[in-house]
Order: sequence, then C-alpha cells, then structure tokens
Amino acid sequence: MSGDEKERLSAEIEARRDEVAALTADLVRIPTINPPGDEYEACARFLGERLAAKGFAVEYLRAEGAHGDSDAHPRTNVVARIEGDGDGPCVHFNSHIDVVAAGEGWTCDPFGGEIRDGRVYGRGTCDMKGGLAASVVAVEALLDSGIAFPGAIEVSGSVDEESGGYAGVAWLAEQGYFSRPRVDHVIIPEPLYKDAVCLGHRGVWWAEVEVKGRIAHGSMPFLGVSAIRGMGAFIEMVERELYPRLEQRRTEMPVIPDAARQSTLNFNSLHGGLPERAYAEGFPSALVADRCRIVLDRRYLMEEDEAEVRGEIVAILEKLSAERPEFNYEISELWSVPPTMTDPQSPLVRALDRNIEVVLGQPARHVASPGTYDQKHVRRIGNLENCVAYGPGILELAHQPDEYVDIDDMVASAQVMGGAALDLLRGDVA
Ligand SMILES: [Zn+2]
Repeated sequence: MSGDEKERLSAEIEARRDEVAALTADLVRIPTINPPGDEYEACARFLGERLAAKGFAVEYLRAEGAHGDSDAHPRTNVVARIEGDGDGPCVHFNSHIDVVAAGEGWTCDPFGGEIRDGRVYGRGTCDMKGGLAASVVAVEALLDSGIAFPGAIEVSGSVDEESGGYAGVAWLAEQGYFSRPRVDHVIIPEPLYKDAVCLGHRGVWWAEVEVKGRIAHGSMPFLGVSAIRGMGAFIEMVERELYPRLEQRRTEMPVIPDAARQSTLNFNSLHGGLPERAYAEGFPSALVADRCRIVLDRRYLMEEDEAEVRGEIVAILEKLSAERPEFNYEISELWSVPPTMTDPQSPLVRALDRNIEVVLGQPARHVASPGTYDQKHVRRIGNLENCVAYGPGILELAHQPDEYVDIDDMVASAQVMGGAALDLLRGDVA
C-alpha cells in the first residue's frame, strides 16, 4: 500500500481526537453495570445506530436462555458488518460493553463522562469503552477516507465479559460469529497499553474443596471432628509445600506484570460452621463445625496441564487423609479455561507490530494477560487462533476508582488499529 494512504488515514484519525473522547464519554454515561447487567440494550442500540448510519448492517442479538438473561436484564449483543470491495478477509473488532460497579473512592462522577486534562474519566473508560471508541473511530475514519479495501470489517459490542462472557462472546461464538469463514482476524481493544500486543492469557482452574467433619457439642469438641481444624491443616500444607513450588514455575509466556509470570493460587473464599450472621440475629448454638469449604483460584501456565494442577491439590488432600484421623474431603471443579497464546508470527500480530512501530516510533512489545478475557471463547468455541487484545489504557487502572483513559493513547491506538486493519484486509503483511 502506498505510504500516502496510510498517512492520510492517520491524519483522518488525528482529526477526530475530540470525537473519540466524546464517544467514550457518551458510552460511559450509559451505566452498563455488571452485575446485574444494566442498560445493555440501550448501549447496544446506541452503538448499532451509530454504525448503521455509516452503512453497517447491524444485528441485535439477545442471548435468550443464556445465564443471566431476563426481560429485566436482557443480554443484548450488537454485531455490525460492512463489506469492502470484493473478496477478502474479515477483520473483527470486539469490545465488551459491560463495566464493573463503581465502588467507593471516586472524586468525580463515575458515570459523568468527564473530559479533563487530556483524559476521559469514569467507570469503564479504561476497561474498555475507550478501546471500543478508538476502534469505532478508526473504522469510521477508514470508511470516510475513501481508501479502498477488500473483504469486510465487523465491530461488535458484547455483554458480560466481566462475569465470564457466557451470554456475550461465548454465546455469539456458539452461533458462528467468531469462526471462519465469517471472520479471519479478531482484535479485542482491552486496556493493555498502546505499544503492546497481548497474545493470550494464563489458564484458570477454580475448585471448591469441602472438608467434612462430625458435629458435636462445642463444649466437648473431642466428641466430634472439626472441619475447620481439618481445613486449617490443608491451608497450612498448601502454604508450606505448594506455594514455594508455584513460585518457582516461570513461564515462557510474556505475562505482565512480571510477578504474574509464574503459577499463582488465591483462596477466593472460606467458610466453616454456622453463618457468622447468626451471631447478630440471636444466640448461636455451640457446635463443632461439620463442614468447611474453600474456593481455590489457581492460575496456570502453558507449561503446566490441568490434570497436574488438580493432581497436586488432590495429593495434598490425600496426604492429609493418611496423616489425620477422620479427615474427609470432597473436591468439585467449578470452572476451568486452558491457557492460550496466539502465534507471534501470525499475520495479525505482525500487522499490529508493524503499525505500532510506524505510529509510535518504537518496537511493539508482546505481552500476555494474567487473567482471562473473551479471547478464550474465540479460541475454543470459535476455533479461531487469530485473536489478540490490543487497545489503549493502562491495565492497572481497570476496576479502580477515578478510572481514566488518555485521549492521546486512544488516538494512537486507533491509528494502529486502522493501519493494521487495512494491512490485513489487503493481505499486505510482509
Ligand atoms: Zn475488560
């Protein structure tokens, strides 16, 4: 492609600096809080109507029957598509439209869409309405520039990413929206820095372990078996034997921040005995706890496999069964996602690398995310490998009070997205 066209596209995007900020602010003012999934329909319509005005064919797709969908909180996704001139690949920009609750600690209105000091403030500016706005403006600038391209461009706004994406990208992928031949390349503008391409993420394995005891009077605990003491022994053994091993497992995946470039384990929740609330409501019974439950959140690496991850927890539980009288347990798996990483030599990654270098004048970094995002569904359900995250915003600001996105970052990443889309559509990836 001629460098002139690329420069023209970049200039078109630069000229829309105020527009990208305004669009981000407009999106933030639609409080798509999840849970419960507020205002999804309004946000999907807002986006769909804007794209329809540019000539996109727009579909509103409610994930009826999916988890969380109800008439009060319909899980409405929007997918918009525009055809270029003649046959070619399809480049798809997917953003989640949901945001997490505002929480405490804000010094501005989290849903006010305030624009100040070169930034847009509000819940979801960084994660990821700024990325959505940047991709929309990039595509609109490309269309308005009159630069010809083959193939097709799609833009989608999907729901529920913050709660797993099951009524969003997973559901759309089940309907064929993230598979060939419909789509060839997917870019998810999540906030992972304008100079970095996010190739994938670590795996997740969530499980609940229940230690079972035997009930007795609290004044004579020797007549029962305390499930809480059993759980204490489990946690202690995990501390002593498992944590040191996990810390030594480093991955080849370029996970950021660096401390996440290893296996990790979090105890999500822990409960044993009568609910604590019972103490506020009345005088509780004196009991030896006969059950204690813990939820484990294990993040694992490409170099590990899920059977091993499970196996090392079971090995600890088995050891405790052998060591402690009447130690009984049950383990149930709640959720798992394997690690995923897109080939850094794929045309998608190379196109983004090249355009980052042109726009920012510095080489692209390759990173991987500590947690999962919707790429998992594109990979596993859509069976599409060519998917990465690339977008403006600073990962650490996601879900924080006074969340913001830099307008400069949105403009730069829109220039990268527009240039990369054009290269991919034209098959111009050296
Ligand atoms: Zn996000």
